[in-house]
Amino acid sequence: MINLNNIVATYTTVRGQVDAVDGVNLEIPSGTILGIAGESGCGKSTLLKALYGDIIYPLSLSSGIIEYGIQDAQGVEITTRNIRDYWFRRIAYIPQSSMSSLNPVIRINRQFVDFLDPDTDRAQVLEQVRSYIQQLDLPPEALDAYPHQLSGGMRQRIMVAMATFFHPDIILADEPTTALDVVVQKGILLLLAEIQEEMQNTIFFVSHDMGVHYQISHKMLIMYAAKAVEYGDSSDVFERPLHPYTKLLTESLPTIGDDHLRQGVAGRPPSLWDELHGCRFAPRCPLATDICRSDEPPMVEYRPAHFAACHHADTNL
Ligand code: SF4
Repeated sequence: MINLNNIVATYTTVRGQVDAVDGVNLEIPSGTILGIAGESGCGKSTLLKALYGDIIYPLSLSSGIIEYGIQDAQGVEITTRNIRDYWFRRIAYIPQSSMSSLNPVIRINRQFVDFLDPDTDRAQVLEQVRSYIQQLDLPPEALDAYPHQLSGGMRQRIMVAMATFFHPDIILADEPTTALDVVVQKGILLLLAEIQEEMQNTIFFVSHDMGVHYQISHKMLIMYAAKAVEYGDSSDVFERPLHPYTKLLTESLPTIGDDHLRQGVAGRPPSLWDELHGCRFAPRCPLATDICRSDEPPMVEYRPAHFAACHHADTNL
């Protein structure tokens, strides 16, 4: 089980401090693909940075504790303080853009072994990598290429290979299929799902695309304006959403045979620099009442393992 206890992640900016993740509490069973959805700026990627321990100025973890529920071979508890020592081996990160993450002037093979301990037999590891990337439908020669010699899909497969080669307990994937065409995107998603099924790692999968989540995620976290607003099994969140924002997001999903025009969510999220009262979704919510504008809704477990932060959660579905 991975526990997030009241996580507040703050950016220091010239305009002052802003909480990009504000009081997120979650219990995620190990071996789960957790999909995280919400509009740009809702805190999805910042939450991944906090989980990865990539907390460098101007970002800080102002409060909260992350319990990864894992120990190293010596029995040392892995925490946000030491998690960097376990990058790749116990926790790995798949970024959005492979082109900006891979060094363009270094061949892939060197990028694979650069982070290994100096006393590791690199030639032997590279032989294992060569065999591993073939399992991920990459030709062995891809290892000898420069990033620009590979297609976008192949580069993203290389990123998946780098992130999964050591069988990490936790994988953080930040919009890993954005900017790929739908066919390549589907291939990467299936690959991630297959790897997760085999290795039983916990994957935090960020995407604003609800269709992508529908295909891959076991559980869903919906974020809005730095807050967690709904959390539960994907089947519940997609089929019986409690929160009006989730409902609007899921209604935007196209279905075969239904050709009525999809409406987006009208309006924009609030600025996090403003002083915010009550429910942050209230200015855009069709169900907003006075209590919504004055009192922040707490996260409530309306159904077993299905939570929402809404004064008028729809429990009738
Ligand atoms: S608390 Fe009120 S404004 Fe917020 S989502 Fe629920 S109904 Fe809408």
